[in-house]
Order: sequence, then structure tokens, then C-alpha cells
Amino acid sequence: MDNVTRREFTKLGALGLAAQAMPAAVAQAQQADARTGYAVIGLGRIADHFLRATRDSKTSRVTGLVSGHRDKALRIAAEYGVPESAVYSYEDMDRMKDNQQIQAVYVALPNSMHAEYTLRSAKAGKHVLCEKPMAISVAECEAMIGACKAANVKLMIAYRCQYDPLHLKAIQLIRDGNIGTLNVIQGAFGGPQPVGEWRITKKLGGGGSLMDLGIYPLNASRYLAGEEPVEFKAFTSTNDHDGRFNEVEENITWTMRFPSGVLANCTSSYGAHMPGYFKVAGSKGWIEMAPAYNYDGMRLRASYRNADGHSEEIDETSPDKDPIEFVRQMDHFTTCIRQNQTPHTPGEEGLRDMEHMKAIYKSAGIDIL
Ligand code: NAD
Repeated sequence: MDNVTRREFTKLGALGLAAQAMPAAVAQAQQADARTGYAVIGLGRIADHFLRATRDSKTSRVTGLVSGHRDKALRIAAEYGVPESAVYSYEDMDRMKDNQQIQAVYVALPNSMHAEYTLRSAKAGKHVLCEKPMAISVAECEAMIGACKAANVKLMIAYRCQYDPLHLKAIQLIRDGNIGTLNVIQGAFGGPQPVGEWRITKKLGGGGSLMDLGIYPLNASRYLAGEEPVEFKAFTSTNDHDGRFNEVEENITWTMRFPSGVLANCTSSYGAHMPGYFKVAGSKGWIEMAPAYNYDGMRLRASYRNADGHSEEIDETSPDKDPIEFVRQMDHFTTCIRQNQTPHTPGEEGLRDMEHMKAIYKSAGIDIL
């Protein structure tokens, strides 16, 4: 077995046998692999996108898995060449501290579990890439930032849109002054949630559609405006009285005022099919992205007068099955780890959104921690 080649190992992986058959030669090859190793904590839907994106990354790979379902984890381990010894349960994942092949973790658990697993990962000496929303309270966000600082590990929040070329192009168009003085931003995101989904429980979701989906137009409004909102007015409503929304809001709409005078109006819903979008209108033109928060097929349109007074039109769509923002996100975090740099979306970025969401909820008469 010592002579198993990488191709043969991949074939074993397809048969679900690689984790059991991890030969010494492959283990050595793993150790020699210069790519930064990530352990994925929680193997649900978003973790699958992250895992698949590692195939396109030249800097990062998967070297560990943490799951409550060992059979599923072993199947995924086989697919990605992760040794069985690096498949952990939630209970024993602290053993990860002794695994030198794991430099970082990707926390892809329900919202209320982000803080605990970030703290435990930091204690194990691992850098943390954590999904949005960062946590379910301001205090948790602050504790996560403090724990990562104390452990001297990096913390980044996985705001994938901030690594997407079309979102970055929209920001650049605004910063270059193409649409003039910004006046108004609009944004929304919604999708129905089924009975039994953890997202509609206060305990795991922390809040309702705002925490999960509204955070997209909230975060987008901030990076498009390039400043922090200072005033909030919000309303919530529940139209589906079928028991799903006894704990968290179904619909929420809110307006934010930014210091420059920009007004942003955003909505999220757990009841309505509402493809995510944003629109930005300025004194010289407008930018629209719709859909804006999908994994692929996003479309950016803009219309404005350029510096010569000529009108310009932009209409660009990202390719289908395009994992680019996931790859760029992990490559960026890996670069920050290697070069000791602060990530573009550090813990403080997640904390800001949490503070704003707290203020939005407060305006709607809802108190979160
Ligand atoms: P999911 O339900 O598909 O996966 C959650 C994972 O956590 C599963 O593997 C599940 O087994 C595990 N888990 C452990 N304890 C659990 C518990 N008590 N209850 C339920 N699941 C438990 O969820 P998801 O869509 O992958 O979301 C995970 C995180 O990623 C959330 O914080 C979500 O907001 C975020 N997310 C981000 C994006 C993005 O585009 N950045 C997209 C979707 C989800």
C-alpha cells in the first residue's frame, strides 16, 4: 500500500475507501503539501461549497473534518483525501491542537454555535474563518475577537460577496465617482423556510430573516456607501401564522441613515421568494445587481455618464457554477495567515453588523442580547 499514487488514492476516495486505506506514502505526501490546511466544522450546505472550492484553490486544502455524523464525515474525508485520524466529533475536536496539518478552521455551524467553536478553535491554536452572521450577540462577537487576539490567531468572517469580482466592481464604480453623489440604496433578500429548520428557532438562529438573509443587503449597504449607518427605523410582520414564526420574525424592513445623507432601505423575508438584489442611485447614474447574493449567475448593470460626459452602460453576468468568491475568500485568508496580515473582513466587520442588527431589532421593538 505504500506505493499508492495520488491518482489511485483519488480512485479509492471515489469508492469511499481512502480514509481507511491511508498509506504511509500518502500521509507523507500530505505532510509535504505546502497548501494551508483547513478543518471544516459542520458538514452542511455551505460547507459543501467551501469543500468544493478547495479543489480550485492553489493555496488551501482540507485536512480535517468535524461532524456529529461520523459515517458522512468519513465519506467526505475519503472524497477529499483527509485521513481518518483527522475526522473529529464535536466533543473531541479539541484534540486538533496536536494536528500540525490543520492550521485553520472553517466554522460552518448554525449561528448560535459560532462563538463556542471559534473559542475552542482559537484555544487549539487554529486560525478561524467563521460564517456569517458572526454570532448571535454583540457580547459573543467581542468574546470571539478577544479569544483570537489572546491566542494570536487570525479571525475572518466569511462575507463571500466582498470577495466576488462583480461586487468589487460595483464598489469601484462608486468610489471612482461614476454615479456621482450617492443618495439612495435599496436591497432585499428572502426565501421561505420549512418547518423543522434550525434557522427559525431563536436558540440556533438567534433571530429570524434579518440575521440570516437581511445581513446581505445590510453588509452590502455598508460597503457600497463606504460608511457606517447611524440611525435605524424598522418594522416586522408575520403573515404565515402556521407556527413557524412563533420565535423569530418572518418579514423585516428597515431604513438606515448614513452620515453623508445616504438612505438605505432594506427588506428580508423567510416567507417570500425574493431573489437578493441591491440598487444604488446617485446624482450621475445608478448601479443594480440582481441577483446579487447567489453563488453564481450574478448580474451587474450600471448606467452613468463618464468623465467625458458620454453615457456608459455596463451589463455583466458571472458564469454559472462559478466558485470564484469561495476560492478568493479562502485564498485571501490563507495569505493573511502566511503574511501576518489583517483580513479584509475581520471579526470587527462581523461585530459591526451585529451592532447594527441589534439596533434594527430594537427599532422594531425586539430585544436581542
Ligand atoms: P446546514 O443546516 O446546511 O448545516 C449546518 C451543519 O451544522 C450541519 O452539518 C449540521 O449537522 C450541523 N449541526 C451541528 N449541530 C447542529 C444543531 N444543533 N442543529 C442543526 N445543525 C447542527 O446550514 P448551512 O446553510 O450550511 O448554514 C451554516 C452556517 O453558514 C450558518 O451560520 C449560515 O448563516 C451560514 N451560511 C452562509 C452562507 C454564505 O453564503 N456565506 C450561505 C448559507 C449559510
